[in-house]
Amino acid sequence: MSEDTIFHRILRREIPADIVYEDDDVFAFRDIAPQAPVHVLFVPKASVRTLDEAKAGHAELIGKLALAAADYARKEGFADDGYRVVINCNDNGGQTVFQLHLHLLAGAPLGRFGTPRA
Ligand code: AMP
Repeated sequence: MSEDTIFHRILRREIPADIVYEDDDVFAFRDIAPQAPVHVLFVPKASVRTLDEAKAGHAELIGKLALAAADYARKEGFADDGYRVVINCNDNGGQTVFQLHLHLLAGAPLGRFGTPRA
């Protein structure tokens, strides 16, 4: 694997994480610093640094990430109440781990987002 981030290490089971979902292309685990009662990260197994660096060939993979999150929400029973998915990109987007990932946030009414960082 050309890139190596903390998420790649979680995938290789080198560091512990609460992995809640895995298939051939995607894996998901609970965020270590949850921003909502449910906060799960959906990550492609293939290395893609940022959404900005995703290519047309990644379209299916990104669709799988979104659908894996939606399936998880439905199975866990909070789809009807609602949830938010977020992909942070690069510095202004607040990205801190440079392996593409989708945040799934749920479990309570969520506040506004998109305000400038203090
Ligand atoms: P982002 O800021 O969009 O790059 O999101 C990175 C996320 O990874 C943050 O919400 C972190 O709390 C989370 N995170 C970092 N290290 C770990 C870890 N070892 N296990 C689970 N989540 C992590």
